This record gives sequence, structure tokens and C-alpha cells, in this order.
Amino acid sequence: MSGGNAKDEASEGGSGPVLVTLDIDWAPDWIIEDIAERLSRAGVRATLFATHDSPAMRALAKEPLFEIGLHPNFLPGSSHGTTPDEIFATLRGWYPDGTACRTHSLVMSEPLLARMACEFGIEIDCSVHLPRASHVTPHELHLSEQGDSLIRLPHVFQDNMHAMARRPWTVAGAELDTPGWKVLNFHPVHIVLNSATLAVYETFKRRGPLSSLTRDDLPPVDASLPGTGSLFDTVLANLSKQRSFTVSERIALWKSGRQG
Ligand SMILES: [Zn+2]
Repeated sequence: MSGGNAKDEASEGGSGPVLVTLDIDWAPDWIIEDIAERLSRAGVRATLFATHDSPAMRALAKEPLFEIGLHPNFLPGSSHGTTPDEIFATLRGWYPDGTACRTHSLVMSEPLLARMACEFGIEIDCSVHLPRASHVTPHELHLSEQGDSLIRLPHVFQDNMHAMARRPWTVAGAELDTPGWKVLNFHPVHIVLNSATLAVYETFKRRGPLSSLTRDDLPPVDASLPGTGSLFDTVLANLSKQRSFTVSERIALWKSGRQG
């Protein structure tokens, strides 16, 4: 299971790569554009797990800096459909090329993972959260005797869960300075709110459905205080000094190391 690319990880100073991922979660275009702008300014690559079709997401799908993955909602009442196949088909209709997936609310089951791999062309699943874990590496999950499998890549940080754990909003507080792969899961709305607790988000949500809120609905945000946005900017500042990767790019490198 160590399976990694020893040569490559050594070149990263003995610790694994840091990968930025975002669960779009129906954020309006102005929020998506704000986050994309911050990533572009830092020149940092990222994987965006999409929940809906929008002009902003369609534009980002054409940018080499970004990978668009799928973020299907399997919870009851999903706007994506009622059955797993219907839900995948909806996302596929919008993003025909996505090969990475993280399910909304991390819903999962073995049959669901098998449908992803065998029927819907998903190669990488990112639906496992292992908060503050060290020594995490990707692993391969076999899902049929015919050779279908998924690479699973757990994330060690997720902003809303970090708030619930009441951890400090620093690299050390998120334990991103320990060995292993560091896949980070941010939600755009928490970045723009610089959420340190979930209270500010709950207040924001009460103004209406997230997709309908405008910049004028934002409460005053002090970006200098510790929170999701300040940690996101710290991570981008660190990554801007090195080569960054989308999930699929880094997994391709990992696979080539396994074969080499
Ligand atoms: Zn989600």
C-alpha cells in the first residue's frame, strides 16, 4: 500500500504532495470566479468537483489550470435525479470528460463505487475523509473480477469539518506538515466568508438559497483573521513556489512510478 512513487516523493522533500480540491456545492458564479481568480493569481492547479452547470464552470473547464471532477448528490431529494444512474447521467451531461469524483456529503457504498468505475468512467474517487491523518497514500480498490477498479485518494482536511473540530486555522493546526499526501477539501463559500466557525455561514444561508445570493449579501469579512480563506491563501502562497498538480495529474504520476 505504500505503493507510491518513492523517487518522486523524495524530490518533494520526503513528504507527499499537497493537492487543492474544491466542492463547488452550488456556489453562485461570482463566488466560483473569485476562487478561480485567487488560484490563477498564485498559478496553483486545482480540482473542482462540480455540482451544476454554469457559465463560470464551463469557462473554467477550458482552463489548463483546472480539472473539473464530478460531485454527485445521492442524498434524498437530490436535484441530480432519483437513482444513482440518473444522478451520474445528469453530471455526465454537463461534464462529459470528468474522471475524478467526490460524492456530496461523502455518500458511498460498494455498489455505488462499482457503478462509478464500471459504467460511468470514473477513475479516481476522493470521497474518503481522514482528518489530520499522516502517511496517507492513494490505493487501488478492485470492484469487479473483470479488472474494474478505482484509485481512491483520501483527503486529510475539509473546512466545515475542521470548524466542527475547532482546530486552529493554520498549516500546523490542520497537521499539514506531517508526512504523506495532503489532499485538501475547501468549499468556495467558506473561503469567501473566511469561515472560522459555521455560525457565519448559517447566517449567510438564511438570506436565501446560496445560488441566489450576491456579493451584497456577504457580511463584512476580515481576511486577516484566521479562517478558511486565510488558510486557503497560505496554502496557495506555499504552493505558488512549487509545481502543483490536479488530482488526475498527480495520480498519473503516481501510477507511472508504480509501474516503473
Ligand atoms: Zn458537497
